[in-house]
Amino acid sequence: MNAPVAPNRLQILTSGFLAQSHKLYIDGKFVDAVSGETIEVVNPATGQVIASVPAGGAADVDKAVKAARKAFETGPWPQMTPTDRAKLLWKLAEAIEADAENLAWIESLDNGMPVGMAMWGTGVCANNLRYNAGWAGKITGETPNLATPDRHAYTLKEPIGVVGAITPWNFPLGMEVAKISPALAAGCTVVLKPAELTPLTAMRLAELIEQCGFPAGVVNIVTGYGDPAGKALVEHPDVDKISFTGSTATGKWIVQSAAKTLKRVSLELGGKSPVIVFPDADLEKAIPEAAMGIFGNSGQVCVAGSRLYVHKDVFDRVVEGVTEIASNITIGSGQDPTTQMGPLVSAGQLERVTGYINSGKEQGGEVVIGGGSVDGAGFFMKPTVLAQTSADMRVVREEIFGPVVCAMPIDNDDLDKVAAIANDTTYGLAAYVWTRDISIAHQMAKKIKAGTVSVNGRAGIEASLPMGGYKQSGWGRENGREGVEEYFETKSVVVTL
Ligand code: NAD
Repeated sequence: MNAPVAPNRLQILTSGFLAQSHKLYIDGKFVDAVSGETIEVVNPATGQVIASVPAGGAADVDKAVKAARKAFETGPWPQMTPTDRAKLLWKLAEAIEADAENLAWIESLDNGMPVGMAMWGTGVCANNLRYNAGWAGKITGETPNLATPDRHAYTLKEPIGVVGAITPWNFPLGMEVAKISPALAAGCTVVLKPAELTPLTAMRLAELIEQCGFPAGVVNIVTGYGDPAGKALVEHPDVDKISFTGSTATGKWIVQSAAKTLKRVSLELGGKSPVIVFPDADLEKAIPEAAMGIFGNSGQVCVAGSRLYVHKDVFDRVVEGVTEIASNITIGSGQDPTTQMGPLVSAGQLERVTGYINSGKEQGGEVVIGGGSVDGAGFFMKPTVLAQTSADMRVVREEIFGPVVCAMPIDNDDLDKVAAIANDTTYGLAAYVWTRDISIAHQMAKKIKAGTVSVNGRAGIEASLPMGGYKQSGWGRENGREGVEEYFETKSVVVTL
């Protein structure tokens, strides 16, 4: 394992941004939490506290919602033309690009991911903002033909109002921008509650939003725990919509709670995505992609390919290949440029992933490689391949959210049966198919119940491509036209002539 390095950038951040007294961003002002309480932020590569942020609560959320409501109803925001809103989104994209290295280091220190991956993430954010800026003013209503000729009718697309955005810790900045960006393009205002484990890039984002000159109250950022801060946002009667990314368990709670006010809800939840390798696949490509599709970001990826189904004719070769890659992955601090896999986000996550591996072993699984944490400071987990696993085991059924893949042979050539294996899950977020046969590829794409099916590669994040879940992986879509449409109400106007 690599030792953590301490280049200049780290020293600058340690004495600068990290040491700052971070504040909530409400109504265009940086303020302390009403309670004065704070949350300690831990560097997962060392286990050391590196910063603290306010622990916002219900009173802070209420202030933020009031500011967002005022900005939505009266401020300059509702009078602004779509072009002017788009200009602000472009400005924020430029600000993120200009600050990319800084943001990437902050993200890496907070979440543990390699700086290079976090840099890539800033590019995804800038792209997302520019893409959604293009939609501002372009989602319009229709003029339907009516059955009653003495009437004229049209539909209006109106911004839904105040959006409560709640985000997870696995790609913090990316998730936050993916919610703010379409909401603002639509003309909504936002209260963002970032994950308590990784709040730091949101603190920097608040500074950039302020610098860009967004009107006060249009974006408000309240750091805090799921309970009370997230909960208060979901329960708040003056929030029109909750846009949530996180675990399926929290998503279910949000649906129940939101029922009391019937606010709109969109959910991007967990996954247990199958990777299916047919015997004719290009294994030179499939093996490294299957490996990095579960070991990338230490497996803390909603679309991670965690169930590897390989045709029996090539099973041994694929498992050997993935195992070899696992044995050569450089694990270390995300700030070391040679690191390929950083730590898990927290001690709790390390314990959770270890618990799953133990349950896999207890239920008869075989650890081909990995199988435990890395000795020393920080929350490092070895990339792990489990074999001899079956559909009834917890490691195959539940989302582990760590670098753990279950490899299982397929001894069937019937595509319906292969699809049934892939679909034998409560989730339906992503799936991966490897074959050179174009007919098999398209048939499988139709048969698999998942929001995204990638053939001979991994879809990645495309601002223009809707992403979301079938079944218990979520409600609604993020990205693409459908993503921005989530932030509108449709009004029918009927005029009797
Ligand atoms: P989580 O559900 O524990 O937390 C997510 C967010 O919800 C955090 O901000 C948390 O503070 C907040 N929260 C927790 N309890 C709440 C409550 N009662 N009311 C309101 N908010 C509450 O999830 P996590 O562990 O942070 O994230 C990992 C999960 O996110 C995984 O399941 C992963 O698959 C999923 N995820 C999904 C996508 C997607 O696009 N589908 C993307 C990334 C992550």
